[in-house]
Amino acid sequence: ARRVSTRIAAITPSATLAVDAKAGELKARGRPVIGFGAGQPDFPTPDYILAAAEDAVHQRVNHGYTAAAGLPELREAIATKTERDSGVEIEPSQVLVTNGGKQAVYSAMATLCDPGDEVLLPAPYWTTYPESIKLAGGVPVQVTADESTGYRVTVEQLEAARTERTKALLFNSPSNPTGAVYPREEVEAIGRWALEHGIWVITDEIYEHLVYDGARAHSISAVVPELADTTLVLNGVAKTYSMTGWRVGWIAGPQDVIKAAASYQSHLCGNVANVSQRAALAAVAGPLDAVAEMRTAFDTRRRKIVELLGRIPGVDCPTPQGAFYAYPSVKALLGKPLRGSTPTNTVELADLLLEHAEVAVVPGEAFGTRGYFRFSYALAEEDLAEGVRRVGELLSEIN
Ligand code: PLP
Repeated sequence: ARRVSTRIAAITPSATLAVDAKAGELKARGRPVIGFGAGQPDFPTPDYILAAAEDAVHQRVNHGYTAAAGLPELREAIATKTERDSGVEIEPSQVLVTNGGKQAVYSAMATLCDPGDEVLLPAPYWTTYPESIKLAGGVPVQVTADESTGYRVTVEQLEAARTERTKALLFNSPSNPTGAVYPREEVEAIGRWALEHGIWVITDEIYEHLVYDGARAHSISAVVPELADTTLVLNGVAKTYSMTGWRVGWIAGPQDVIKAAASYQSHLCGNVANVSQRAALAAVAGPLDAVAEMRTAFDTRRRKIVELLGRIPGVDCPTPQGAFYAYPSVKALLGKPLRGSTPTNTVELADLLLEHAEVAVVPGEAFGTRGYFRFSYALAEEDLAEGVRRVGELLSEIN
């Protein structure tokens, strides 16, 4: 008999974590690996947030459970922040505090999907999405966009993938892994289409503040207000405040769905760590100065990496407008000999880069599209330049 359930055995392990682990192993053995795998800002959590957490540790009330849906003060601050940043008015009762954006994704799926419900999944997608859809009993339906459209899907593509079983669209702008940011008119077109067909929108806005070149992250229910009753907004403090390890995210949506998701959460994990919620409260209720500084630093690196990657023959790197990732195509380099092997996919090519150039990148297969690499530019500029130099040197051996 099977020791592990079919459902859990079918999970593909997180490829981004796998790359990090492999790179970490080589580093531990003394190899000077440069890692472009990280999905987290390399800045420290701002001091005023740390101070709030320290205070919280010493207040006796914070040893206990909180309400399953989150601290009332935090839910209120998130409602206020949603109006400030997205222009959407919500009540605190429309917010569920989750263990990171990751749990927000999973809980949203679990709360909306019945077995067999289809979720339209624009690709390249964040690697956690298909797994969380499947775990929740849903069926991911991939809709792929490539560099020719800046990795943005069109309404025509979505419409072609729609069936009677289509329950929801998973929308992510700015995108991990491509850095694509949908302009307002495209958000509106997609929103109108979803509204017309009664399709829920699950919109992951975790990179909302990391946008460049004057791009703006438009919250879909701000653009199409009638969608509010069938939209779940996913967000969190990880990327905006450099708080990945604190594990605080949230879902904002219609009251009935949030209530159901909170009831699920009450059995799943009880609540998010009390002290982490206090820290998140300081973050969400506070200013956006720290993220403005990070954005400036990321922007400099973004320009640098796009420029450097663009000089490597066979590498085609559209300019990302958000998040902290570049997603070049390396399709032109596949199927050609390199150091004794002939990589036909980007998993193999990424392995060669790690082995011979001591550079870790995440292969496009992790995001549903072969022929690409994801480079996170959340690393020091010198390392970034040296890493891309090594990539260029090795890849120039092809042909
Ligand atoms: N959504 C996207 C698109 C992400 O890239 C991530 C993190 O990598 C998350 C959500 C979740 O972040 P966390 O669980 O750390 O809050």
